[in-house]
Amino acid sequence: MDSKMQDFKFFIGMFPPSTFANDTCHMIPSFGNIGVIETNEGLVVFDIAIRQFAPRNFKTFRELTDKPIKYIIYSHGHFDHCFGFAPFIQEINEKGWDMPEIIAHENCIRRFNKYKMLDKYHEWLNSQQFASLSVGSQAQQETVSPHDTLPPTIILKGNDASYSFQLGGVDFELYHDMGETDDSIWLWVPEKDLICAGDLMVSSFPNVGNPYKVQRYPKDWAIAMERMMEKEANYLLPGHGRLIEGKKKVQDVLSITAEAMHFVHDEVVKRLNEGKWFEQIYHEMLEIYPEKFKNHEILQPLYGCYQFAIHASYRLYHGWYNTGNPTDLFPAKSEEIARELLAINPPEIYIQRAQTLFKEGKLQLALHVLDIILKGEDMVDPTLYLDALKLKYDIILEKVKVEPSFIAANIMNNGAQQIKTRIKELKKK
Ligand SMILES: [Zn+2]
Repeated sequence: MDSKMQDFKFFIGMFPPSTFANDTCHMIPSFGNIGVIETNEGLVVFDIAIRQFAPRNFKTFRELTDKPIKYIIYSHGHFDHCFGFAPFIQEINEKGWDMPEIIAHENCIRRFNKYKMLDKYHEWLNSQQFASLSVGSQAQQETVSPHDTLPPTIILKGNDASYSFQLGGVDFELYHDMGETDDSIWLWVPEKDLICAGDLMVSSFPNVGNPYKVQRYPKDWAIAMERMMEKEANYLLPGHGRLIEGKKKVQDVLSITAEAMHFVHDEVVKRLNEGKWFEQIYHEMLEIYPEKFKNHEILQPLYGCYQFAIHASYRLYHGWYNTGNPTDLFPAKSEEIARELLAINPPEIYIQRAQTLFKEGKLQLALHVLDIILKGEDMVDPTLYLDALKLKYDIILEKVKVEPSFIAANIMNNGAQQIKTRIKELKKK
């Protein structure tokens, strides 16, 4: 198993559970993690993970405690955090226990409604984003239906929402903040010195600016981290990855994440104020990315990455016209542009140039040049077209080898698989 896959196994929870705070709290690693807090009146469960892992998670859960669940809190409405409830609810029904309270932010309900409206789209989108994941193939076989939700019974409303309750003499404080989503809730349990963060903390550079997904909130993310820092927690239970333990370590990961989010947001804003367009901002931002972020363990681009965060910051304030070039306002089809370029120079010239760029290690430029041939297909000899496809396939695989971000690597892998299928079809002809 290569180190990339090993990192990702941690991300999806393929490691043993943790018990902490005098055996009263547990973290069940999954996709995403489940937090369990014991009280003498029952359990508070923070997130219930993805449906596909529910049987495994329930088994682990019942090996750790036999108490009934009194509260389930949704950190946010993503599939990997609140769709894995079935065996937990089945047990409640079988034993005739009371149904637990389900706590969520009001934007989580909006999210569920959106999933229902866009169910086919999300199915397609998630099959793209998680395509190469070994559990992804299982996940794709049985797609999570957005119609199967466990509806919240306690709903936090508004931007400054908070909610607290007591169970078995233990105080639970919930806070709403935005970051990966607009429906995030995090939990502070003072007596246990514990924060459950949901995806506001994952063992990766924050997933802000995901290429497939709606707007996310880098500045609010930084603020959420700072609000968590005020608690000086000893345990930080992340949405994905290992439990973070020790006051110093917790403060460190929160503060470096806050700093990184402030940095990417503020540097993009500064450049917007300087009248710069996206391309210039993006490439300048790549140049100035500080080493301290690059090297920090918690900011490794395993899932989200810095480049995507630049997009997120820009999109917060900018429309889709992002080049400042009037040519791009009502663009022609890219195939037509390619045909014009092929009318000027024959395809051989382009493939030779792409081969040279590939040899020189300029992989991205080689791809741009190859696309001229591939988009102008009807002007290209079939054998040469096939060569161009094969070269593109090889180049993408080279890029995947060194790409740390799971999302980015998956997008490229998907593209490569589509090319492979196309090559097979063409060879049959
Ligand atoms: Zn998640």
